[in-house]
Amino acid sequence: MRLPRFLLVTLVLLFSLPAAFASAYNAHPKLVVVIVIDQFRGDYLERYRDQFGDGGFRMFLDHGANFTDCNYDYANTRTAPGHATLFTGSYTSGHGIVANEWWDPQKKKRVTSVEDDSTKLVGASKAAPGASPHNLMSDTLGDELKLATGGKARVFAISLKDRAAVLPAGFSGDAAYWIDQKTGDWITSTYYRADLPDWVRNFNSSHRAEKYLNREWRDKDSAGNILGSTAPRTGANKDAEPAGFYQIVGSTPFANDYQLEFAKELVLYEKLGAGPATDLLVISLSANDILGHQVGPDSPQMRSMALELDRSLAEFFGFLGHQIGMANVWMALSADHGIAPLPDFAKTLRLPAANLDAKVLREQINSLLAKKFAKKADYVLDLDYPLAWLDKQAFAGTLGAKDESVAEGEVGEAMKQAGLAGYFTQSQLARGETPATETGRRYAHSYSPEGGWYVIGIPYPFQVGITKGTDHVSPFSYDTHVPLAFYGLAFQPGTYRTHAEPVDLAVTLASLLGINAPTAATGRVLTEALQPHHSTAPSSAQPAMPVATPPSGGIQ
Ligand SMILES: [Zn+2]
Repeated sequence: MRLPRFLLVTLVLLFSLPAAFASAYNAHPKLVVVIVIDQFRGDYLERYRDQFGDGGFRMFLDHGANFTDCNYDYANTRTAPGHATLFTGSYTSGHGIVANEWWDPQKKKRVTSVEDDSTKLVGASKAAPGASPHNLMSDTLGDELKLATGGKARVFAISLKDRAAVLPAGFSGDAAYWIDQKTGDWITSTYYRADLPDWVRNFNSSHRAEKYLNREWRDKDSAGNILGSTAPRTGANKDAEPAGFYQIVGSTPFANDYQLEFAKELVLYEKLGAGPATDLLVISLSANDILGHQVGPDSPQMRSMALELDRSLAEFFGFLGHQIGMANVWMALSADHGIAPLPDFAKTLRLPAANLDAKVLREQINSLLAKKFAKKADYVLDLDYPLAWLDKQAFAGTLGAKDESVAEGEVGEAMKQAGLAGYFTQSQLARGETPATETGRRYAHSYSPEGGWYVIGIPYPFQVGITKGTDHVSPFSYDTHVPLAFYGLAFQPGTYRTHAEPVDLAVTLASLLGINAPTAATGRVLTEALQPHHSTAPSSAQPAMPVATPPSGGIQ
């Protein structure tokens, strides 16, 4: 029987629609996987494109929607803020996470972005306070997924670092797992559960971490040079304790394999992608960052790291395809920040690069203020370049500087004298008193009410606040430029050079899943990269609604 052409078209549309129309409520897709690569700069994908194999990064580059010009629109490009930004769809002014660690004026000490005294670590070799997302001021994509599905969606996040697992998992995540830095064992916090599930306990007790020790890292793509080793060694300082798993394996590609090995078990044992709603898995791969600080972005080690990761991802995506079917999976790829070139290398190109010493900078600021106020004190208590936390008490009785805006202004001026390009004070940011410039907006986005009195210094480009290696914490392109790419049936494959920001990731996924965006989200839906029936514009693929015509002479 020959079907009329219009009927054929209708049937094809009908049968293709269920796979294409997505909704978290009925598990289309079954699983969303977000890969965050710590310190993976936006230019790496292009730099190594020709050297990537099939099935790894090329899943995004050749078969996905790849945004080549995605930049963070804030200045505090650190790990904790970056992860919070990706999953809340907002900047620090929305989610509150300003740095990895900050000064807590109540506790009078530095605290980390996720440490939580009301919790304990679970599975760790030493008893220590646990972690939770208690400092987040916004919920996350995973939280919205949970809310929308009555808790049916499962949400997990893993990383070598606590902050990079805890912040992406949000408040309602089923679990965040990270490693005990010494042993490499996977651990969590009582915030999520009282003990490790059997599968994690078995993973740890089967000595999977040890398997990655005593290995040689050879460059597969050139002369086979040895680029590193995971032989046990002592720590950085003389007479130090033996270096832990995090230091030894964490700075090699073996760490990515170790993480992906754990991710596979998580998918299998937690039956991700087999539930009644869409599940979310976040994998934040840390090795790139641990190594990148030491050797810089332009080293042969970082090149090999990217190519090894490409192979590891291909293997992992193959597993997902086999296990869940790639038609049922959406993936997204991004990074929490980029990295400055190694100052020693940039200097060879006559760029005005420098390694600065944050300790010396703090001393300089304090002695400048001591001179000004004729009183010796630790005006700046703590400085995580270029962010300085002030001691309120130290300013008491000095030139009317007990007012926070005056005190912060004095510290800012001292910062400039000590060699920074400029500054924004906490009180200025809190009142929204930033100039209507690109720079002003980036610093307005960096504001958090945490940390008491503080000043954010504006660095000069290519100047980093550590004496060895390189760093990331600036509003400059080398720190803000990150990949943003999607893979899955909802996306229109292609290279997109339109404006994109990391805050668009959660907002785009939320829109496609038919759920609310996170509470403070400001990103935009990347409509140019969506398949036509996902676009917000009226689509010819959708049947027109019949127009009701009132019967003539009927009641109007
Ligand atoms: Zn990072």
